[in-house]
Amino acid sequence: MPALPHPLNAPGPFHVTDDCIYCGQCTANLPEVFAEAPDGLAYVLRQPAGPELLAEAREAMERCPAESIVETKTLSTAAPGSH
Ligand code: SF4
Repeated sequence: MPALPHPLNAPGPFHVTDDCIYCGQCTANLPEVFAEAPDGLAYVLRQPAGPELLAEAREAMERCPAESIVETKTLSTAAPGSH
């Protein structure tokens, strides 16, 4: 089954998918961008603003053990399958 983006992700290029195992790495290292959702998984609280946060978000993405942080090139705010 393809990984689904967390419903609480802020709209924008970065998102966390339901492959997250909540290791806590991204939320501990970059709380400006990642937070823990009520369901215990991580989600994108705010999209990284500025080059420094962008670089840190990409670093968190590379460190994620579940590869559940994704950066898409095309900006889409529509949920998949929504109409
Ligand atoms: S680093 Fe990956 S697995 Fe760990 S909490 Fe963040 S999104 Fe989830």
